[in-house]
Amino acid sequence: MAFESLSDRLQATMKKIRGRGKVSENDVKQMMREIRLALLEADVNFKVVKTFIKKVQERAVGQEIMKSLTPGQQIIKVVQEELTELMGGEQTKLNFSLKPPTVLLFVGLQGAGKTTSAAKLANHIRKNNNKKPLMIAADIYRPAAIKQLQTLGSQLNIPVFSLGDQVNPVDIVRQGMDQARADHNDLVIIDTAGRLHIDEGLMNELEQIKEVSHPDEVFLVVDAMTGQDAVNVARAFNDRLDITGVIMTKLDGDTRGGAALSIRSVTGKPIKFVGMGEKMDALEPFHPDRMASRILGMGDVLSLIEKAQATIDEEKARDMQQKLLSVSFTLDDFLEQIGQVRTMGPLEDLLAMMPGANKFKGMKNMQIDEKKIDQTEAIIRSMTSHEKTEPEIINASRKKRIALGSGTSVADVNRLLKQFKDMKKMMKQFMGKAKGKKRNPFNL
Ligand code: GDP
Repeated sequence: MAFESLSDRLQATMKKIRGRGKVSENDVKQMMREIRLALLEADVNFKVVKTFIKKVQERAVGQEIMKSLTPGQQIIKVVQEELTELMGGEQTKLNFSLKPPTVLLFVGLQGAGKTTSAAKLANHIRKNNNKKPLMIAADIYRPAAIKQLQTLGSQLNIPVFSLGDQVNPVDIVRQGMDQARADHNDLVIIDTAGRLHIDEGLMNELEQIKEVSHPDEVFLVVDAMTGQDAVNVARAFNDRLDITGVIMTKLDGDTRGGAALSIRSVTGKPIKFVGMGEKMDALEPFHPDRMASRILGMGDVLSLIEKAQATIDEEKARDMQQKLLSVSFTLDDFLEQIGQVRTMGPLEDLLAMMPGANKFKGMKNMQIDEKKIDQTEAIIRSMTSHEKTEPEIINASRKKRIALGSGTSVADVNRLLKQFKDMKKMMKQFMGKAKGKKRNPFNL
């Protein structure tokens, strides 16, 4: 999971100081040593670490913090603010051209995730900004790159302009731009060739493509897993092409986070989007403040809500809430709810966004077992509709049938029925309490 190891280290450090009513300069020094080590181990650029620590330390030993009633918490706030700053402060939005089409040029090394991210972003912008995209396949060197973009295009129903791999990429882009204008596409996304290493030929070609396409954004795609190499690549591309932003891919697999934390300081260019998986919807706008909160275990409730809003049907959710409150919640509703939550993505990712998720110590080792959830779904699907609405009628022979039908055991069926019963009981109790305290539902 993204930033996991850094997050663990920083949170352990923060825990020591959180509730403290008194903090000495020595405590701060000790804490800074730990943060410094944690960042270095996360592969953050050493110069970046040095400046970061200096800033936090200066602020942390400041008068107003040391004298405040909650110095521990104030220092954590300083760390959160400085981490946010380190990743670029404010979220940086996309530059849309006043004179369409808006052109986004994708550059980067081979395998960084350019083609995948180009398609993801075309899809994202079409959905969120109501644009009509055209993708141009200008990577004529990597075998199958054109085919890959075409496949993604047809999956997403987004047109792809290609002239095969025998035409010069600069000409492809020139003609692709003409095509976009003729077809009234207001968004053009250009997928260019990468190389295994930075080389002069590549840079020349990209400069020419930039000249003919006048991009509104030059996005460098880098692989977070490559750590400081990603930062060096970014510096080199930025020197030649004056990139406008970074798309950092594979953050889902990067437990350290060094590249994500260093790239802004080293290049001066912001991360605009992050790739969190291979699926087409696994691309998120990058919010430095939310990411900083996530790293420090404060959760990222805003992203969670946005995800829910984007994927869960609001009317259905309201319906479900009504059912839960009226205790007429059946196993069928349970099944539907599981389905809705799952459309939001892997449960482990969702949990990572909950504040204090790390506090449930058992949770980490538990590793959300998606297979168990598959099993739950299978069991419920093997029930008749009568059984789903009135689980009390499920006797021993019915249990045997359900277990057989779902490829599980009677014990599994029993476990699920018990869970469901407990949940309903809990809802009843909760409702009882809420009724008793009607005038003060939040117990304030
Ligand atoms: P390109 O050579 O830069 O065009 O790279 P591709 O788009 O072909 O991506 C290389 C590999 O990385 C593919 O297998 C992608 O599915 C994978 N990939 C791209 N972005 C992500 C991401 O955010 N997370 C994960 N886990 N894999 C990714």
